[in-house]
Amino acid sequence: MVEYNPFTVAQAEVDRAADLLELEPAMRELLRWPLRELQVRLPVHMDDGSVQVFEGFRIQHNDARGPTKGGIRYHPAETIDTVRALAMWMTWKCAVVDIPLGGAKGGVICNPKEMSEAELERLSRAYIGQVGRIIGPDRDIAAPDVYTTPQIMAWMMDEYCRLSGNSDFGAITGKPLGIGGSLGRNDATARGGWYTVREAAQELDIDLGGATIAVQGYGNAGSYTAILGQQLFGCRIIAVSDSSGGIINEAGLNAEAVLQHKARTGSVAGFPAADSIDNGELLALDVDVLWPAALENVITADNAAQIKAKIVAEAANGPTTPEADPILYENDIHVIPDFLCNAGGVTVSYFEMVQNASRDQWSEEYVHQRLDKKMTEAYHTVGDVANHHGVDMRTAAYLVAVQRVAEAVALRGWV
Ligand code: GLU
Repeated sequence: MVEYNPFTVAQAEVDRAADLLELEPAMRELLRWPLRELQVRLPVHMDDGSVQVFEGFRIQHNDARGPTKGGIRYHPAETIDTVRALAMWMTWKCAVVDIPLGGAKGGVICNPKEMSEAELERLSRAYIGQVGRIIGPDRDIAAPDVYTTPQIMAWMMDEYCRLSGNSDFGAITGKPLGIGGSLGRNDATARGGWYTVREAAQELDIDLGGATIAVQGYGNAGSYTAILGQQLFGCRIIAVSDSSGGIINEAGLNAEAVLQHKARTGSVAGFPAADSIDNGELLALDVDVLWPAALENVITADNAAQIKAKIVAEAANGPTTPEADPILYENDIHVIPDFLCNAGGVTVSYFEMVQNASRDQWSEEYVHQRLDKKMTEAYHTVGDVANHHGVDMRTAAYLVAVQRVAEAVALRGWV
C-alpha cells in the first residue's frame, strides 16, 4: 500500500486547479505553500512529577481573503505535513462557502486519550503561550478539530486573554456557550454536511426518509451526522465505526444510544443491539450515503472499486486519495468533497466570531438558517461548475475556491 503524504496530495490538487485556471507561475508557487509556519516545543508538567516536551505547530496558509482560520488537532500521528495540508484545505474551505477568512491549522503530537484533564489543560495553555504571538481575532482564529473539545477551547481562550490583557473571546471559536460560544456550533459540521446531502439527494432522486447510512468515525462530526440523519430526515443508520471497531444493524441503530455507549465504554464497539463489522466492510456497504468522518486516506485505489454507496459525503478532511477519485467518478458515485461537505463547522465558527465582535447572541434558528443558505449556495455553485465543465465535484470545488483566492491575491497586488 502507498504511504500518502497529505501535503503532497494537497499540492498536487492545487497544481491541477492551477493548470485548469491557467494561473501564473508566481501565483501557483504562492498558493502551493503556506505563508507562515511556526513550530514550537511545549514543556508540560505531568501528573507524576515529570516534565514532557511536546512538539506543536501552527501553520497559516493564506490570508488574502481575511484573517486565517482553522482548528487544532491533538493526535499522535500529527506531522508538519499533515498540518500544512489541513491549513491549505482550510483556505479552500473558507473560500468555497465564501466567508471572509483564510486558512490555517494547528496540531500537537500527543495522545490525549492517555492524558488527564489537568495535563490537557497545561498542554493547551502551553500551546497558546507559544502560538499566542501569531494568533488573534484579527490575525488567525483557532478552533476545535480531532480530539480537541469546547473545554480545551475555553482554556485556550482564557490563556490568550491573559496574554493580551483584553477580552479577546473572538481569538478562539468552538467555545462553550457560557463564554461566547455560538448556539449551533456543536453539530455544525454534520448539519452543514446534511444540507449538501439534502441537495444532492434531490438531484439524484433519493428519498432521504428511510435512506440507509453508514458512518466511519464517531467523534464530533460522525456522531452528529448519525444523530441528525435520524432527526432531520428519518434516515436508517445501519453501521458506524470508530478507531476501536465498528457495529452494524440492518434494521437501524439508535444513534443517541450508540453515543451514550461510547461515552461509557470509550468505543462504539460492543454496542448491544448490533453485530460487529470492520472498517473495510463498513466502507463497502451498499448504502445510500457513506460518510467518512474520521481521518485522511481511508478511500484509496485499493478499496475505491468496492464502494457501493450512491453518495459519499466527506465529513472528514482528506478521506479520499487522488487515485481513488477517478474510480468513484467512473462508478457514478456522487462525491461531495471534504472542503465543501464539512465547511459547516468553520461557517458557524465564523458566525461565532461575528457574534463575539458585535457582542451579540444569535438564536439557534437564525444560525441554522444562515448555515443552510451558505451551504446550499456553495453546493449549487460547485455543482454548476461541475456540470458546465464536465468535471467531478472535487475538481469543481477547487476551481471555485482557488479562483476566489487567486483573485484576492491579485487584487491586493501580491502577484
Ligand atoms: N476544524 C474544523 C475544520 O476542519 C473547523 C475549523 C474552524 O471552526 O475554524 O473545518
